[in-house]
Amino acid sequence: MKFDDCEHCSGKVRTKRVTVDLRRGTRLYIFRNVPVGVCSKCGERYYPGPLLEQLDEIAQHAVDGAKTIKVPAFDYAQVG
Ligand SMILES: [Zn+2]
Repeated sequence: MKFDDCEHCSGKVRTKRVTVDLRRGTRLYIFRNVPVGVCSKCGERYYPGPLLEQLDEIAQHAVDGAKTIKVPAFDYAQVG
């Protein structure tokens, strides 16, 4: 994958495999090892064109076979 230089700091953007959190309504989906562009200077992420739509699609249709993990959820009104 080829990316333009970072639009914030002009750093080089390179493909890295990262974990992407996708929130849809009250649900949180986590995708591991997703290849995205990451600025080597400021860390800004660049998602190649159809990637997010593709993840959306997976989240909606391919829940079978997904590993479900528990995440802590806090209500700030009660703890703050
Ligand atoms: Zn940058």
